[in-house]
Amino acid sequence: MSKYVFCFGNKQAEGAISDVNILGGKGANLCEMAILGLPVPPGFIISTECCNEFLKAGGKFSDDLEKQILQGLKHVESIMGARFGSVDNPLLVSCRSGARKSMPGMMETVLNVGLTSETINGLIKKTKNKRFVYDAYRRLIMMYSDVVMEKAEGIEPQEGLGIRVQLEKIMHDLKKKKYYSHDTEVNADELEYLCEKFKEKVKEVLNKEFPDDPMEQLKGSIAAVFKSWNGKRAISYRKIEGIPDEWGTAVTVQSMVFGNMGDNSATGVAFTRNPATGENLFYGEWLPNAQGEDVVAGIRTPYPLNEANKSDHNDYLTSLEVRMPGIYRELNDIRNILEIHYKDMMDIEFTIQDARLYMLQCRVGKRTGTASLNIALDMLKDGLIDETTCVTRVMPNQLDELLHPVVDPEAEKNANVLAKGLPAGPGGAYGKIVFTSDDAVRLATPQRNVILVREETSPEDVEGMRAAAGILTARGGMTSHAALVARGWGKCCIVGAGALKIDVEAKRLKVENKTFKEGDIITLNGTKGLVYEGMLNMIDSSENLRLKEFMAIADKYRTMGVRTNADTPEDSKIARQFGAEGIGLFRTEHMFYGTKLEEPLFLLRKMILSPSYFERKEALDELFPFVKDEIKGTLEAMDGLPVTIRLLDPPLHEFVPHNREHVVRFAKALHVDEKEIRRRIEDLEESNPMMGHRGVRLGISYPEITEMQAKAIFEASCELIKQGKNPLPEIMIPVTCDVNELKVTKKIIDQVYEETLKKFSLPKIEYKFGTMIEIPRAALLANKMAEIAEFFSFGTNDLTQMTFGFSRDDTGNFLGEYLDKKILESDPFQTIDQEGVGQLIAYAVENGRKTKPNLKIGICGEQGGEPKSVDFCYKCGLNYVSCSPYRVPIARLSAAHAAIKAKK
Ligand code: PEP
Ligand code: MG
Repeated sequence: MSKYVFCFGNKQAEGAISDVNILGGKGANLCEMAILGLPVPPGFIISTECCNEFLKAGGKFSDDLEKQILQGLKHVESIMGARFGSVDNPLLVSCRSGARKSMPGMMETVLNVGLTSETINGLIKKTKNKRFVYDAYRRLIMMYSDVVMEKAEGIEPQEGLGIRVQLEKIMHDLKKKKYYSHDTEVNADELEYLCEKFKEKVKEVLNKEFPDDPMEQLKGSIAAVFKSWNGKRAISYRKIEGIPDEWGTAVTVQSMVFGNMGDNSATGVAFTRNPATGENLFYGEWLPNAQGEDVVAGIRTPYPLNEANKSDHNDYLTSLEVRMPGIYRELNDIRNILEIHYKDMMDIEFTIQDARLYMLQCRVGKRTGTASLNIALDMLKDGLIDETTCVTRVMPNQLDELLHPVVDPEAEKNANVLAKGLPAGPGGAYGKIVFTSDDAVRLATPQRNVILVREETSPEDVEGMRAAAGILTARGGMTSHAALVARGWGKCCIVGAGALKIDVEAKRLKVENKTFKEGDIITLNGTKGLVYEGMLNMIDSSENLRLKEFMAIADKYRTMGVRTNADTPEDSKIARQFGAEGIGLFRTEHMFYGTKLEEPLFLLRKMILSPSYFERKEALDELFPFVKDEIKGTLEAMDGLPVTIRLLDPPLHEFVPHNREHVVRFAKALHVDEKEIRRRIEDLEESNPMMGHRGVRLGISYPEITEMQAKAIFEASCELIKQGKNPLPEIMIPVTCDVNELKVTKKIIDQVYEETLKKFSLPKIEYKFGTMIEIPRAALLANKMAEIAEFFSFGTNDLTQMTFGFSRDDTGNFLGEYLDKKILESDPFQTIDQEGVGQLIAYAVENGRKTKPNLKIGICGEQGGEPKSVDFCYKCGLNYVSCSPYRVPIARLSAAHAAIKAKK
């Protein structure tokens, strides 16, 4: 018989954190806490393997599973001294989800399972608290009908007609009639009446009685939690986070403890350190007389855990430290035990029942990039972790947030604060207001930021939150689901801005006497929790000393180089500040982009449209000083570091003039009529320009183009050498497919080299000659290419295009479907397709080095700054990766991770 059920409680457990794959994070950590001797209510875990089998079997309980569940219950009953379903002394349990990796709020939970018309009386006798028991019962009916009877049955009610909303309305109407403003004002008899009304409504809406049998409730809840693995929210979250569908969720069935038993009871959520900043302060929120769902659902404004957590927003609420000092001390001790045991910042959930503390959950806490970095450095300093652990504690993509903008403090000084809320996710963001998750997804584009404005934080909004530049809510606390998720993504987020009055139907936001509609712009300062009207200036935060300290440690373990793709002295300087060790790709044709460059662009076009050698030569001569100056500026900015200058690779159609005014100007400059120019433009038209007359092919047809560029590179270098500088140019030939292309080109370059040295009376320039590998044939013939090339650089944009046969400019039309239908796992233009394109890379590295063992090899396609691709490049033995300036720190950290992982 397979083991499906694992018990814990009474300082013992049948599993530990090492069993996380089968017990899920929540279950494994409960076992771990039990073993540590912490006060954990007893329970049992049904494994993730069982979830997969259960779902495969169409949602049926096997006999084995049923048997083991009963044994699990016996274990809990014996520790608790109560019996599930007992009329006199009933045990109630909770059923919670828990995957291998935390998916906050994405799956379901059912609490108070086991309350029936019979057990209710026993519980009232036992607790002497009728109000509490009926409050627990109305919560069970609400949760169970929503999660088990509606969602798990696949019923999709119309907006606003879900069973939960309908039950909430009944309660709301009663409160309104009685002039109550809080749930806690509803008395015992009223709750009893509400429960009856609820059950009638459930029958009316869902056509089924609310189950009055404890075992039926338990099985229904377990099944619903398993099924919630395939709920809409969970699926979207998995897609975003890259969590495999096969993992499945475990179910933890645990004895209930109650935070809502009166003023001596409470519930709370805490982080062992501040998850937004990383500050080493116990950080959390609690609610007296409440159940856990009240804190995370953001229904009531939570109280601060301790005095140090107080801020303008919650100053008026009592801290746990003051209200229950003994319990707070006990909790603080647990905080220390957990940090020392896990050697990490932990996120915990606790309940206080009648002045007794219980731990309900602990897991490694989600945190912002800033917090990750600060916590890793602090724990290193305190000797809790070593350097390699410190480096691997920060995920490369988290650095993005540290490099990204914050609201300019100067702009803030002159702006009026529109509203204040809790600073749930740091950094700054501005954008157009949207009111629903769908609108955020629909309207957000790379050019158009949106801010998702919601009444309260709900995990249903996960896709919209992802699409939005920032998130703003009127209700909820720092530990609400949306705040957790936003922080995990390093997204700017403000929650609990109480002054917002949101009308979703009318798509209108009112703050005091101001009204905003969809599309109006606001700015968020997520670090301070401040909202501003309009768009405020942003500044970047690259001068971060702790980041520098951290990167210096990471660099100690990195063995692969990191360069940048840059085409201007300005970009080169930024990249150098971010730690680039040279340029891996200088795209010469980029000199001609941009509005200030009319004259050089005119000359380039003139060159392209010249029909004869002499005219072309004249245009090239005019172009030469400009090309030389640009190259010189970049070589100077990168003094002492290698600069890979790729010869012109312009897809011709992008550079020929199209509007009439330009055509007339060319006609005049080339002394021909307009018609002739149009004819030449037509002659240049290609049916497939990406595979047309571009790259090295241009230089083969017109050697004078290669000659001019070589002269510009060498003269710029000689002038710099004369100024005492140390230029290190590397000339790279694009779009090659045969070694003979390299031979022909090298001959031209060698000749210009000799001539230039003579002209400047210099003995040598330290330069290299190499090729892009971006056509599959070049990769397949790498051994031959290496006979001439001193280095390779993988152009994985074109290599991907040509290997897949996907036009790199047109994948938008179909790639989404490929990903949705799981034909491809990820976009190969963002992350290297290791299975296919990867084979060509590995083959070319191996065979290139058979010819030249010291062949220097890098990558300069867009994937060069993406962590998984960097890891792959490391495994293939590349010497460096090259990426855009802002990704340089991410690539550095990824390369350090790869080296540390390989060593381990
Ligand atoms: C490439 O093809 O990967 C490359 C770096 O060159 P480009 O993007 O300029 O074609
Ligand atoms: Mg290319």
